[in-house]
Amino acid sequence: MKVLVINCGSSSLKYQLIDSETEEVMAKGLCERIGIDGRLTHKPASGGKYEYNDPLPTHVEAVSAVLAKLTDPEVGVIKDLSEIGAVGHRIVHGGEKFAAATLLTEEALTEIDKCSELAPLHNPANLIGIRACQKLMPGVPMVGVFDTAFHQTMPKKAYLYSIPYDYYEKYKVRRYGFHGTSHSYVSKRAAEILGKDVKELKTIVCHLGNGASLSAVKYGESIDTSMGFTPLDGVSMGTRSGGLDPAILEFLSKKEGLTIEELMVILNKRSGMLGLSGVSSDFRDLEAAAKEGNERAQTALDVFTYRVAKFIGYYTAAMNGVDVICFTAGIGENDAAVRATILSYLGFLGITLDENANNIHGEERIISTPDSKVTVMVVPTNEELAIARETVAIVNK
Ligand code: ADP
Repeated sequence: MKVLVINCGSSSLKYQLIDSETEEVMAKGLCERIGIDGRLTHKPASGGKYEYNDPLPTHVEAVSAVLAKLTDPEVGVIKDLSEIGAVGHRIVHGGEKFAAATLLTEEALTEIDKCSELAPLHNPANLIGIRACQKLMPGVPMVGVFDTAFHQTMPKKAYLYSIPYDYYEKYKVRRYGFHGTSHSYVSKRAAEILGKDVKELKTIVCHLGNGASLSAVKYGESIDTSMGFTPLDGVSMGTRSGGLDPAILEFLSKKEGLTIEELMVILNKRSGMLGLSGVSSDFRDLEAAAKEGNERAQTALDVFTYRVAKFIGYYTAAMNGVDVICFTAGIGENDAAVRATILSYLGFLGITLDENANNIHGEERIISTPDSKVTVMVVPTNEELAIARETVAIVNK
C-alpha cells in the first residue's frame, strides 16, 4: 500500500509518500509560508529537487499542490491519486484519550479537537491538515498517529506533578511526554538490531534534536519521559529552557516587568543553548564557537551534556538498571563529541565507549565496546516510516 504521511504545522506541511511493502520513500517535500505567500519543495526518490512559488492561501491549496506534484507526469511518482491507499497524520497531542494510533472518524476528530486546549499551537493545525486531505481525497482512510500516545503507559507516580490533585482531575494537568513515535521506533529498532525482544530490555532513548527528550522504556513500554505537560520540560534544548524552578517566573516577572505570556516566549524561544550561549541554538555553531574560545558556548554545551547524563541516571534508577542506551535525532545521530561527553559521566554503569564506532557518521550501530556492561547505540529515527507502519496496521485491522 502507498501511504501519504502528513505532518502539518500552522504555516507548513511536510509530506512523504511511502510504499509500505518496500518501505521505500517514493517522494517527499515541504510546503512553507502557507497563508503568507507559499513555497513548495518536492523531491522524488529518482533525484532532483523542485521548487515552486504557487500561492498557498490555505492548507487546502497546499494539500492540493502536493497531490498535483505526486501525480505530475514529470516530477510525480504515481499515475493517479487512487494509488494512495491511506494517509497517516502526525498529531501532536492525544491527551489521555489516545494511547495508540486511530482511524480518524468524526468522533475521533471531535476528541482531537478537545485536546487542542493542551496543544493550542499544534492540534488545530493538525486538524486543518486532516480536513484538507479529507476534502481532496474523499474515501481514503485517514489515520492519526500521536506524539503523546507511546507515553500513555507511564504509571501515575511518573505522570503526576505534585500539585493539588484537583488540577489533574479538573484540567488533566499531568506529564504527557512527546516525541513518542520516535521513542517507540528507536527502542524497537534497537532491540531488532541486537536480535533481542524489546520486552526483555530496559532501554533509555535520548532523542536529542532541536527539541530534546529522553525516555525510559522498560520491557517495551514507556515508563517515564523528560518532556511534560508541554515540550518545555526536561533537558535544555536549542531554544527551550527545559525544567526550572517555577518560582523563577514570579521573580523575573517582578524584576523585568514581564507578563506570563512574555516569559513563556522567553522560555520557549530565547532560552536553552541560544539563551545561555548568546551564539546559536545549533550545536555546530556552538562547537565552532567553543573551539575558538567562546566560554559561554562551552558552558551551554556543558549544561546540555550534564543534564542529559543526569536524566540517564534518573531513568537507570527508575528501571532499576539499563541494558541499552540509544542516541537519535539531529544531535544524537551526528554529534560524536556530545555523545562522548554524556557517556563520560556514566563510567559507574560500566559503560565503555568504542571511539572508532562513535566517530563513524550517520548509520545504525553499536558505539560501546563488546565488554561494556550497557550497550550504547546510535539509531537514526524515522518518524515518517513509523507513522506509515502504524497507518497500515490500523487500515488492515
Ligand atoms: P528538530 O526535528 O527538533 O527540528 P533535529 O532532530 O532535526 O531537530 O535536530 C536539529 C539539530 O541537530 C540542529 O539544530 C543541530 O543542533 C543538530 N545537528 C544537526 N546536524 C549536526 C551535526 N552534524 N553535528 C552536530 N549537531 C548537529
